[in-house]
Amino acid sequence: MSTIMDGKALSCEIRAEIKAKIDSQKEKGIEAPSLAVVLVGNDPASKIYVRNKKNACAEAGITSYEYTLPETATEEEVLALIEKLNCDEKINGILVQVPLPKGIDEKKVIDTISPEKDVDAFSESNIGKYFLGNAKFLPCTPGGILHLLDKYEIDVNGKNCVVIGRSNIVGKPMALLLLQRNGTVTVCHSRTKNLEEYTKNADIIIVAIGKPKFLTGDMIKEGAVVIDVGINRLPDGKVTGDADFESCKEKASFITPVPGGVGPMTIAQLLLNTLEASNDK
Ligand code: NDP
Repeated sequence: MSTIMDGKALSCEIRAEIKAKIDSQKEKGIEAPSLAVVLVGNDPASKIYVRNKKNACAEAGITSYEYTLPETATEEEVLALIEKLNCDEKINGILVQVPLPKGIDEKKVIDTISPEKDVDAFSESNIGKYFLGNAKFLPCTPGGILHLLDKYEIDVNGKNCVVIGRSNIVGKPMALLLLQRNGTVTVCHSRTKNLEEYTKNADIIIVAIGKPKFLTGDMIKEGAVVIDVGINRLPDGKVTGDADFESCKEKASFITPVPGGVGPMTIAQLLLNTLEASNDK
């Protein structure tokens, strides 16, 4: 039987700590940290993510400002808004909700965010910093996962870590952060042959591919740690992860549920980064 890693509870703990810190700063006359959330277009999922992030900010005592541009906004208009926010002293962190509408160069927009305000840590400059191990902001999903590993005292040192998925926002940074913790890291992806050879030998598996219930119990070894990043909406409206929770939990020593595992930790890391950005003032 495995221990279910409760990301929701840990996220609440971290948010409460952030709030306590901000409250005590306020008593000393220090302004609350602030986050600008930029939403371009009408993507329904993006609207939900933005709403959730704003609610999380409010609960933690972080001031959030929403900047909404229409689907028809041009790249120049988006870049002009970012430049304005870069110079705005009342804004500590800037987050651009992706995906952006077609015709807008996402990379160019992200790289325009001032590195000191890039709380998602998606810009080239911040990627370079955490690559070299001297980051101020950790990328939110991998950073949140490290907090979960710490909470459950899961030591990465010397462990065989398999990361399935190599996206720039989850798989690659996750692999790098595990490497920095002295894990022996293998990154698997859609071209990997005989995936099971890797997963069956893994002490820690991070699965982030966007394929419902892909990782099954027969693919993992007894006692493995399974971190499920996937968020997949099924036809019946339910949300499920990339791991088959029921079969994996029979063999795993620790496993994250979906929902309630990695998702809330991603938001907790965003709030931590925003607090960190405000400490620079
Ligand atoms: P991407 O679509 O950007 O990347 C998916 C990765 O999975 C690619 O590297 C792809 O390989 C790999 N892949 C796809 N199919 C297979 C397969 N059959 N075997 C092995 N590898 C495969 O996804 P993201 O990283 O952005 O997101 C992954 C999942 O995590 C999604 O469900 C997303 O919703 C979720 N997510 C959750 C977050 C959270 O807070 N919980 C945050 C961010 C994402 P290749 O490169 O070869 O194409």
